[in-house]
Amino acid sequence: MVGDWLKANLIVWRAMMGNRFEGKVAVVTGGASGIGRRTAEALLEQGARVVIGDRDEALLSECAERFDPASSATVRVDVTSEADVERLVMTAAHRFGRLDIGVNSAGVGTLSSIRDHGVDSWKQVIDVCLTGVFLSVKHELKQMASGGGAIVNIASINARQPAEGMAAYCSAKAGVEMLTKVAALEAAPHGVRVNAIAPGFVETPMTAPTRSAVRAQFVASIPAGRPGSPDDIARAVLFLAGEDASWISGETLVVDGGEVHREYPRLLSGF
Ligand code: NAP
Repeated sequence: MVGDWLKANLIVWRAMMGNRFEGKVAVVTGGASGIGRRTAEALLEQGARVVIGDRDEALLSECAERFDPASSATVRVDVTSEADVERLVMTAAHRFGRLDIGVNSAGVGTLSSIRDHGVDSWKQVIDVCLTGVFLSVKHELKQMASGGGAIVNIASINARQPAEGMAAYCSAKAGVEMLTKVAALEAAPHGVRVNAIAPGFVETPMTAPTRSAVRAQFVASIPAGRPGSPDDIARAVLFLAGEDASWISGETLVVDGGEVHREYPRLLSGF
């Protein structure tokens, strides 16, 4: 009896949750891989139509094959190019008639001490991780100005947690956190909320090359006892993008299994 009641409620709950983003249109940068990919997929599962922007053409083709073309589109973009980002956002408007959600996940990292840091690799990380988010927020806001919406930027615990060898990445991500706050102020009169997620160590193609000794240090630094999955982050993105977060703006939500509270692995020494 109780079992039947629970089963019936579970079915109703699933049906309700399954349509959380019905009628909404999203763009996801870096959407062909890792966190962005799982976020795009989760939005599609919850009824949204999604335009996936990424620079990786092979992964974009994979997405185009995997996702229903009636509710998704893929666009090759370099987020450091304003013309590309504008084209990505316009694709949402032309193809699906509106834009409600922007998820800005494209990012790259590099490992170098400041003394040895080439200015080119410094500029590449700042360009993709900070300027790319700035351009994405700019054009998403322009598109959302009349109808409201929600933007979620993917920062990192390294916005707050310094890490040896990661000067460019830490600086860019700290910039994303502040950019998110300023954007939230400017966007509020237009009914747009802007927030960020700060993930800890998540298993994605970006972290796959991490040497096993370093990976073990990362896992040991996570009180939850396991690395994050793209789905751990996607679920937090959907929370911030959705109605449950309707009075949250300018915030950065740390999603890291508690990692930020422990000492960060020493990436330039000790391995
Ligand atoms: P990922 O699997 O490498 O996905 C990032 C995607 O962004 C890749 O497809 C990448 O293409 C693309 N991209 C890079 N530069 C681009 C550009 N200029 N224009 C368009 N697309 C570009 O990495 P991820 O782990 O999911 O990372 C997603 C975001 O989470 C990043 O902002 C990252 O900094 C952040 N984050 C990740 C972790 C983690 O532990 N994984 C932790 C904290 C924060 P390429 O493969 O060609 O570079």
